[in-house]
Amino acid sequence: MAEEFRLDPWASAVRLEYEKLFRYFGIKPFRELLPRVTEVLGEPLHLMRRGVIFGHRDFDSVLEAYRSGERVALVTGFMPSGRFHFGHKMVADQIIYYQKLGFEIFIVIADAEAYAVRKLDRRKVIETGLYEYVANLIALGLEKNRHTHIYFQTNYETPYYRLIQMFSRKITMAEMEAIYGDLEPGKVMAALTQAADILHPQLDYFGGFKHVLVPVGADQDPHIRLARDIADRFENELGLRRPASTYHRFQSGLDGNKMSSSRPDYTIFLSDPIDVAVRKLKNALTGGRATVEEQRRLGGEPEKCTVYEFYVYHLVRDDKKLARIYQECRGGRLLCGPDKQYAAELLAKFLEEHQRKLEKAKDRVLEYVEPPSF
Ligand code: SF4
Repeated sequence: MAEEFRLDPWASAVRLEYEKLFRYFGIKPFRELLPRVTEVLGEPLHLMRRGVIFGHRDFDSVLEAYRSGERVALVTGFMPSGRFHFGHKMVADQIIYYQKLGFEIFIVIADAEAYAVRKLDRRKVIETGLYEYVANLIALGLEKNRHTHIYFQTNYETPYYRLIQMFSRKITMAEMEAIYGDLEPGKVMAALTQAADILHPQLDYFGGFKHVLVPVGADQDPHIRLARDIADRFENELGLRRPASTYHRFQSGLDGNKMSSSRPDYTIFLSDPIDVAVRKLKNALTGGRATVEEQRRLGGEPEKCTVYEFYVYHLVRDDKKLARIYQECRGGRLLCGPDKQYAAELLAKFLEEHQRKLEKAKDRVLEYVEPPSF
């Protein structure tokens, strides 16, 4: 039963058993939709092709809406609690993929949540939101257009705040505790605010109805379930419909646990000096064997290797090349020393180019978003 397995969206480093999500929460495997994705959207994003995006709720209805020319929007958010790392880049890649397809884009900088739940300094949160998150998104290719909206939770339009108030009427504490476990007032506010983040693009005030898709890490599913319950209860009053969602795997930190800004030695940030990033990668946990002789004889284990994961998520976009690395590793023809050197070269090349763009992007953040005044 679902009660035996609860997800905590505020835990900093949960490890998930993904198949439990299919079993307990009705999340469906994404792989089954790949042929339909190809038909409707064209070439699937590498994260879809490689199973990094592994689950969904109602993504088929988003595909159908897109195919028939209805309006579709992607909603996502970032908690500005630390520096922008490669785990965040995975979300950015999805945003940019959907933006290119013509989805409307809503990006929330969750400064209210960072203040109330993570208890961070407000000034610092705003600065991080601007110069880490928004700047990196721009540098990665997020375009500014009339269908792209970035906002801070504490600096948005009145109807958005009205939604938060209205939602509080039709949700009980018992329901929220069933979804989230123990709650304090800050978390209740944060959860209702997230529901408003997810659902507000459907209101007339924000341009009228559109189908909403929310790509999340699996630990964020409680927010999706709450937003879907709330949408059901406000269907008549506000015309809200359930949002769809996709679920991606976490990127591992370089020691095999979750990548997180609170674990900087095991996390590569997109603003890390290149020598620092390369050093971290070279110290990463691999799927290599104890000795060269053993590796030649038994082959490596790319499934357990954080360097290989970097290839899959970020460094190698060509599927054939990726398959070649996998087979050479498995077959014992590739050794970790030279392979790490190769990965480090790819990483350095990416970061060099990205950081050039990042410096320019910092001057443009205020074109994309208006920060709160205090
Ligand atoms: S050879 Fe490369 S992919 Fe294989 S385990 Fe070593 S570092 Fe990982």
